Amino acid sequence: MSGASRQAFDARIERALGDGALQKVIAEGQDYMQALIEPARAQPGWPAALDEIARVRAETLVHLDRYVEQFASNVECLGGHVFFAADAAEARRHVVDLARERDARLIVKSKSMVTEEIALNPALEAAGVEVVETDLGEFIVQLAHERPFHIVAPAIHKSLEQIRALLSAAAGHDVGGDPQAMTRYARGVLREKFFAADMGISGANFGVAATGSVVLVTNEGNGRMVTTLPRTHVVVMGVERLVPSFADLEAILEVLPRAGVGLRATAYVTAISGPRRAGEADGPQELHVVIVDNGRSAILGSKYERVLSCIRCGACLDICPVYRKIGGHAYDTVYTGPIGAVLSPLLDGLACHAELPFASSLCGACSEVCSARIPLAEMIRELREDAVEEGLASPAWGVGFEGFAAVAARPRLWSALELAALPLLRLATAAGTLLRGRGPLGAWTQDREFPAPERRSFRAWWGRASAPADGPTSRERGGG
Ligand code: SF4
Repeated sequence: MSGASRQAFDARIERALGDGALQKVIAEGQDYMQALIEPARAQPGWPAALDEIARVRAETLVHLDRYVEQFASNVECLGGHVFFAADAAEARRHVVDLARERDARLIVKSKSMVTEEIALNPALEAAGVEVVETDLGEFIVQLAHERPFHIVAPAIHKSLEQIRALLSAAAGHDVGGDPQAMTRYARGVLREKFFAADMGISGANFGVAATGSVVLVTNEGNGRMVTTLPRTHVVVMGVERLVPSFADLEAILEVLPRAGVGLRATAYVTAISGPRRAGEADGPQELHVVIVDNGRSAILGSKYERVLSCIRCGACLDICPVYRKIGGHAYDTVYTGPIGAVLSPLLDGLACHAELPFASSLCGACSEVCSARIPLAEMIRELREDAVEEGLASPAWGVGFEGFAAVAARPRLWSALELAALPLLRLATAAGTLLRGRGPLGAWTQDREFPAPERRSFRAWWGRASAPADGPTSRERGGG
């Protein structure tokens, strides 16, 4: 990573850490989500459901070419149109052309991370189209001219007062501090937009290869308005977001609402199969599906392939201790938290986000909770290795690990350093806590409390604990 990008990342982190209100909101948000999710995780069927999701997603990725072909051909059989976009620019161009050809002036959107990824809104706005986000959280971050803070809860970082201020500024009058009144205001605005819109754009939670259906999982009902009221509906989806059949969605639909928002079931599961047919009361006259690659096929077949199994539930963000401190905007990417630390460097190139794999404590909590059993912590570690090998990480990492390897391979040297270090560390402790470190060590103790070191090392303890009652310790036996 360049010095400048590292400095910019550090500055964003400092900003987040120094914002007391933000720290409080993120911590409360994570605690709230954990309290909702924990009962689901404790259910006996939960591990089996995650295994099933991992199986379905792995099977889909192995035969992705076949499922993409099947899905596209079924969409076309149903009367829809399919466009394959190799990258973000192609996807943007195609959607802007669709809007221009239809003289679309107003587009309503439902929540879609892939449209954030391809930066669709600015392209449409540059073409003179008004774009309105209709998911309440997205509506709020659009008013704030910000990126989503979280992949499931885009405005989780906003306090009630901040939301009130944003809505009041948009309304031209105070909408009041009552959440219901605020929601009523947003609903009133959005209703008019739904009816006036020329085009609706949605993402796709999943595409079903066997039927050519697009499945949306939503809670606010806006997804149905976006996909049924305007005369043209454009679906933008990542190429990996397919499942072979509806039966394969069962475990996903069971886990996604619980892991994402702590609900047993989502309010709406919508399956869209083609545009409106003769005799149908609603639905768009045209359906276009834009299937976006944008770096995904390069991940397929690589050691990172399993990251494409992600079902975008957000559970890894809700447990991550780093996300808890730095929040979503410090990443400066569309995908944030542990999934972002893996996916963003893979999609955009490690050189663009070499700092992100280092934004992890490697505690492994993200891997443990992942709904698709993606070994996120392992991938983060491998990306660090890649960054060091490609010369993108600070040289200190390479020197540090080489030094560590040299010492770790020499048990006697390790023991000697351990013996020397323990009394020194004890000198630097007070009230059971390690005092603020100096120089590069300062960062380790600046925002967290390190407990004072034990009086004897784990190896010394283990040597005694594992020795026979009257026999020599492993150290005495020469085990180092
Ligand atoms: S990586 Fe796993 S936990 Fe994180 S959003 Fe994706 S499926 Fe959910």
